Amino acid sequence: MTTETTGTAEPIAFKAEVRQLLDILAHSLYTERDVFLRELISNASDAIRRFQFELLTNQDVLDPEAELAIRVAVDRDARTITIQDSGIGMTREEAVENLGTIAQSGARAFLKRASENKATTTEIIGQFGVGFYSVFMVADRVTVHTRSFHPAAEPIIWEATGGDTYTIVPGDRTERGTTITLHLKQDAEEFANTWRIEQIIKKHSNFVAYPIYMDERRINEDQALWRQTPRTVEADTYTAFYRQLTLDSDEPLLHLHISTDAPVDLHAILFVPARRERGLIERRIEGTIKLYSRKVLIQEDTKDLLPNFLRFVEGVVDSEDIPLNVSREVAQNSPVMQRIRKSLSGRMLREISELAEKDTEKYARFWREFGVFFKEGMATDYEHRDDLLKLLRFHSTHSNEEHALTALAEYKSRMIDGQNEIYYVMANDLEAARRSPHLDPLQARGLEVLLLTDMVDVIMLTGLRDYEGHQLRNIDDASLELPGEAPENEYGDLTEEEFGALTKRISDVLGERVKAVRASKVLRGNPVRLVSEEGTAGREMQRIEQLLGREVRMSPRILELNRTHPIIINLARRVQASADDPIVGAIAEQLYDNALLLEGLHTNPSGMVARLQMLLEAASRPNG
Ligand code: ADP
Ligand code: MG
Repeated sequence: MTTETTGTAEPIAFKAEVRQLLDILAHSLYTERDVFLRELISNASDAIRRFQFELLTNQDVLDPEAELAIRVAVDRDARTITIQDSGIGMTREEAVENLGTIAQSGARAFLKRASENKATTTEIIGQFGVGFYSVFMVADRVTVHTRSFHPAAEPIIWEATGGDTYTIVPGDRTERGTTITLHLKQDAEEFANTWRIEQIIKKHSNFVAYPIYMDERRINEDQALWRQTPRTVEADTYTAFYRQLTLDSDEPLLHLHISTDAPVDLHAILFVPARRERGLIERRIEGTIKLYSRKVLIQEDTKDLLPNFLRFVEGVVDSEDIPLNVSREVAQNSPVMQRIRKSLSGRMLREISELAEKDTEKYARFWREFGVFFKEGMATDYEHRDDLLKLLRFHSTHSNEEHALTALAEYKSRMIDGQNEIYYVMANDLEAARRSPHLDPLQARGLEVLLLTDMVDVIMLTGLRDYEGHQLRNIDDASLELPGEAPENEYGDLTEEEFGALTKRISDVLGERVKAVRASKVLRGNPVRLVSEEGTAGREMQRIEQLLGREVRMSPRILELNRTHPIIINLARRVQASADDPIVGAIAEQLYDNALLLEGLHTNPSGMVARLQMLLEAASRPNG
């Protein structure tokens, strides 16, 4: 075989973005250079998989019998590494297109990051790899001998040295596939070591679906992990598999290994990641599920295998029963797929339920990351409603610690005599919820209240109107009738006349912003609250719109005053002394703003500062 590649070939310029990438690679110091091998093996494996796909539909291929495998060899003296595959190969045009431009989204994202912040990228570059070009972290000359699977295609030799150009000359390769030779840089000599390369393959590429040989010895796992018997697999192996599958550096929160032959042949490993957002650069939220049948990866990112509210799950699903030769749509709707779907969701939900029962601390972590998906599922997935109801968790007035969560069943078990409804209060955060004036009458009666502080809670409520016959009830409702006894609310010594004059004054100040101003029968520690009139439908949707920053006209609420509260009593006295005392107007405005704030409905809190300063000035005046 001739490797004479220079001399006659015209140099071809790399696309600008490739040059930019190569320039960064050439001028950086990397800590994790060994990922170059993961990238090359992943490309080799992709190439074989694509060839296998051709084989399903196309009779006319070069070397149909050749073993589907990857071979890696190290020549210590020549300081080279070769990676050879029997994959799909490349024609001249394909080599120009694939190796002269940047296709890989990871590389693109990296470039974007690099242009924003040069300092950090050089430290982390090795962690995500930038596809084929990562070879230039370790090599100063790379030769690609390749021949497409099309029997008529000509073999070619592509070569680059990390500069601005590459060359392509005709090759003499007879067999299908690609061989990549890296001429290692002096400072990358450490990689010209068989043992080292073997370790790197084990670390990054152990679960590649095709054999990886070095000197005829298979290096990677020879049976797909998901086809092994679950109890023979060590926990660490799942973690290693998860990391290679997702490139997430965290440990997964949960793994589930299913291996059955009946009623369908089904082998699957599913993971719940540790975090909702993962990946160093792309910050993915949705997981991907790879679907295999008879060792062929038939779909890289399979939707619909799990209910939508489990879309964060990552994993691999393999079944011999999936028909390969029919269209994707037909396969999706086949009885086999339906059975697989049912089996996977059932097992996954069971696993999550077990976690919820057995390890509340871990489940709380799960809930913090993925609870939003379940809340959304309450509104959209009727089929799994019963499962979801059991899995929902809430902060509540009875779970004081920051992380303690309550299930609806626990709430129910704490309901008091005569209680028929499940109470909730809405606010922007837990602290505001715990300070809500609406809690006054419920706390006086020892009633538990769920604290809803997520935007998605409103969506959840559209599908969670009741639980085992108990309606959920927003306690900002003016007509709320509460069970149980509370000590009588002592009305202060304001006369009807005094209180009436104050009410009128506050009404005049707030005008259209409130529907009415009236005495509260329920407030205790708080001076005022804003309540919704019964049947103010859509007030929760208005909250969402407002949180999304849309202009919404909030329906005006009723301002209730606590006649026994010192602020209210003082204000009434001031009105008696001087009907248009400006301090009364300012305090009324401020009380209204405070109520809005606690409801999470204030649109412009900084607007309060001028008024507060005026009040502070009045309060700070020396006596006398
Ligand atoms: P990605 O793998 O994400 O597409 P890479 O930079 O790793 O990006 O590779 C670029 C392209 O080069 C691949 O998409 C593929 O078309 C082609 N390629 C790389 N290695 C091989 C190979 N061993 N056999 C066939 N094609 C390859
Ligand atoms: Mg790649």
